[in-house]
Amino acid sequence: MEFDYDLFVIGGGSGGVRAARVAAAEGVRVALAEGDRYGGTCVIRGCVPKKFMVFASGYPEAMKDAQEYGWTVHAGGFDWPRFRSKMHTELDRLEEIYRSMLKNSGVVSYDARARLSDAHTVALSTGESFTAKHILVATGGRPVKPDIPGAEGALVSDDIFLLDEMPKSILIIGGGYIACEFACILNGLGVEVTQYYRGAQILRGFDDEARGLVAEEMKASGVDLHLGTNIIDMGPAEGGYRVKSTNGTEKVFGQVFFATGRNPNTADMGLEEAGVSLGRHGQIEVDNYSQTSVPSVYAIGDVTDRVNLTPVAIREGMAFVETVFKGNPTPVDHELIPTAIFTQPEVGTVGLSEEDARDQEPIEVYCTSFKPMQGAFAGRSSRVLMKLVVSQATRKVLGCHIVAPNAGEIIQLAGVAVKMGATKEDFDRTCAVHPTISEEIVTMKTPVRTA
Ligand code: NDP
Repeated sequence: MEFDYDLFVIGGGSGGVRAARVAAAEGVRVALAEGDRYGGTCVIRGCVPKKFMVFASGYPEAMKDAQEYGWTVHAGGFDWPRFRSKMHTELDRLEEIYRSMLKNSGVVSYDARARLSDAHTVALSTGESFTAKHILVATGGRPVKPDIPGAEGALVSDDIFLLDEMPKSILIIGGGYIACEFACILNGLGVEVTQYYRGAQILRGFDDEARGLVAEEMKASGVDLHLGTNIIDMGPAEGGYRVKSTNGTEKVFGQVFFATGRNPNTADMGLEEAGVSLGRHGQIEVDNYSQTSVPSVYAIGDVTDRVNLTPVAIREGMAFVETVFKGNPTPVDHELIPTAIFTQPEVGTVGLSEEDARDQEPIEVYCTSFKPMQGAFAGRSSRVLMKLVVSQATRKVLGCHIVAPNAGEIIQLAGVAVKMGATKEDFDRTCAVHPTISEEIVTMKTPVRTA
């Protein structure tokens, strides 16, 4: 059978665009449909604008430090509309780059929503329909709010980048990446931030010691963090929203922001009708090669709910092209993925937490926490944490956890060593770079505990 295209990609985010471009470079006839903006969550309403906001939010603290270093400066006010407009101009520019990258690689793009009519046919919201030998679903995910009375008035992360004005106060619900990052960002921008997290400690799944220090530092910098607390209901009130919570209080906040997780975008896409199996949360079920239960249909990125990070979606897209169009079956490697949480201070992490590692095998823990010189000189009391979790049997570093300014930058490189299988002794024989925060990662001589 002759198909219109060799590959039809649904979704123009990080994963979909990369797969489309790399496939087209192999001479494959590729089409891509995107119903919203090119660049997807990461570029338009996620990592990229978030990072601009992280930068913006750091200036008041930097300015305070600058005073301690002898400068006559002060932060003045934050002009959100001016910053927002500049940020969106930059996002428009990036979106244009995504569009032109597709065009220049020979991918035909359709500004339309797409759904599957069958295992080889895609129907577009424009009324057009195309057949393809392979279909790649890369539709990502979207934020979800819990089913709480009045929640329809609340914000999710998508909305934050579009606010007309910064609220005076905000309640953030959740304790994951998004909740903690925005608690720090908005706090830095001068918003009074309250955060409710239902569990005993924020950032579930990360190393306990790292979580503890981040929570401590967030509180010290002014985030009013309440653990073991959740919202019961909310409704409009003068000056914002009245919120009733499980700690027995009723308070008014300018805005309420649910950072309570994300769901895969699989609704109304004809997936199940075409025979594609979905999991309990609506995610597309795939094998190690990103192939679904329908052999011609593949899926990558957040829609598969494996590891929901942009660089992972990109790698899944590349592995898909290797497998399907380059005759080189490539399973996706989800082991030892370094990641960063852009809180204040940042967290950089790779490998196992102490808690997971000690469940697996006997370990040694090397850990140090101190006030770094830049902040200490400025009279700040904030601390950093450097931690290595080491296998007693193989001496391999099973986990590396850093809480520090620029931990995201540090962990990228520590990630190379850990991915290569570096042992504690490999770290030890690497000379320190002095004076830096990260030198402590190669100078920890004695385990603080074994388990
Ligand atoms: P997460 O799944 O990380 O966190 C969701 C949070 O909401 C958890 O603390 C969860 O609590 C809580 N929660 C869930 N349901 C409810 C409820 N009904 N009531 C109260 N609290 C609730 O999701 P995020 O939205 O923070 O982030 C989504 C994903 O996006 C991340 O997993 C990550 O993969 C990615 N991301 C990555 C970033 C980065 O790399 N820096 C930045 C932002 C996002 P509990 O722990 O009890 O389940």
